[in-house]
Amino acid sequence: MSDYDDQNIFARILRGEIPNATVAETEHTLAFDDITPQAPVHVLVIPKGRYVSYDDFHANASDAEIVDFHRTAARICAERGVALPGDGFRAITNAGVHGVQEVPHFHLHLIGGRPLGRMLA
Ligand code: IMP
Repeated sequence: MSDYDDQNIFARILRGEIPNATVAETEHTLAFDDITPQAPVHVLVIPKGRYVSYDDFHANASDAEIVDFHRTAARICAERGVALPGDGFRAITNAGVHGVQEVPHFHLHLIGGRPLGRMLA
């Protein structure tokens, strides 16, 4: 597994050291509202395990963790009213320097509730 910084802000949220606006919690996954929302719906979905990035998570997490993560994300889209056949959403994860990842704990941004425009870079 990649080097993991136990002091990153999402690790601190998982330990209960920093409050969060929880949207969903399961055995393996936590989801909460982004503190600086970019749209009416902006939820961050994170695994509870110590994974730095998308690739770290999918290479090293168990099948149960991965399925739980994605089912939770899909459920949140439905519950927040952005899932199809509604108006839709964007699911995005930033990784590393080129991806401009700010917090080094894998997270999926679920963004919706307004037209998001075309995203190429
Ligand atoms: P990244 O650039 O993909 O790593 O995005 C990190 C996200 O975490 C940003 O959208 C921040 O607004 C968000 N964020 C940072 N600290 C907190 C927090 O304490 N609670 C909720 N979201 C946070």
